[in-house]
Amino acid sequence: MAGILFIISAPSGSGKSTLVNELRKQVSGVDFAISWTTRAPRGSEEHGREYCFTTREEFERMLAAGLFLEHAEVFGNLYGTARQSLDEARAAGHDLLLDIDVQGAAQVRAKMPEAVGIFVMPPNPRVLRTRLRNRSRAEGVVNEEEVYRRLREATKEIENYREYGYILVNDILDRAVAQLEAIVLAERFYRNGEPIAYRSRRVLEVAAACLHSNSQERLKPVLEAFGVLGTSGQQQLPFGDDPHDD
Ligand code: ADP
Ligand code: 5GP
Repeated sequence: MAGILFIISAPSGSGKSTLVNELRKQVSGVDFAISWTTRAPRGSEEHGREYCFTTREEFERMLAAGLFLEHAEVFGNLYGTARQSLDEARAAGHDLLLDIDVQGAAQVRAKMPEAVGIFVMPPNPRVLRTRLRNRSRAEGVVNEEEVYRRLREATKEIENYREYGYILVNDILDRAVAQLEAIVLAERFYRNGEPIAYRSRRVLEVAAACLHSNSQERLKPVLEAFGVLGTSGQQQLPFGDDPHDD
C-alpha cells in the first residue's frame, strides 16, 4: 500500500517542530524527511537528527546532480529534501512527513498533487514574537533583528494558507497535537481504509474541523491579527516597532 505524503509548513516559530516531534512519539509508520541545509546548527541540533548540515558548495553540487525533490532559499540559507527520503519511505510502505517552507511545498504539490498539505499558524503576532524570543533565549542567542525578520516573513507566509488542505492554529499545544494526529489517522482511514479503533468518529470530526474549507470562522481572528484579511496588500505588524516592547 502506498504511503501518504504529508507536507507541513508554518511561519518560523509557530511550533511546527514541537508538533512534529509530538506526533512522531504518538503515531508510528510516519517517517520524517531530514532536510539538507546550509545553515549552521542551532542550540543542541545534531547532524543527521534535525538536519543534515552541509556547505553551500556541497548543496549546489547535490542540486546539480538532481538529488533534491525540492529546494528553496529561506532566510539566506538553502534547504532541500533529498529524493532518497521519499524512496526510502515508499520502499518501507511508510507515510512521509516533509517539514518545508511554502516555496518547497508548492514545488512538491506540482509534482505530487495527492500530497496532504497542513499549514500551522500561531494564534497572533504577539504570541509568535514571544515564542521566537523564548526559543532564542533557550538557545543562548537573542537576536532581536532576526526575531523581527521572521515576524515580517510570517505575514507573507501566512498569505499562502489557502494552498493547504488543513489548517492548524497552534494555540494550546495538546489540542494542536491531537488535531495533527487526527489528520494523519483520518487520511489513513479515507485513503487506505485503515481502521481507527474506537475513537474513530471523534478523530474524523476533529480532522474535518481542521479542513481548510471548514476553518473560515476559526481563522478570521488569526488572519486579522496578522493583517492578512485586508485587500490593500500593505501589511503591517500590529504592534510598534520597538523590539523591546513586550
Ligand atoms: P518552528 O519549528 O515552527 O520554528 P518550534 O517548534 O521551534 O517552532 O517552537 C518555537 C517555540 O515555541 C519553542 O520554544 C517551543 O517550545 C514553543 N512552542 C511551540 N508550541 C507552543 C505552544 N502551543 N504553546 C507555547 N509554546 C509553544
Ligand atoms: P529553521 O532554520 O528555522 O529550522 O527552518 C526555516 C524554514 O525552512 C522553515 O520554514 C522550514 O520549514 C524550512 N525548511 C526546512 N527544511 C526544508 C526543506 O528541506 N525544504 C524547504 N523548502 N524548506 C525547508
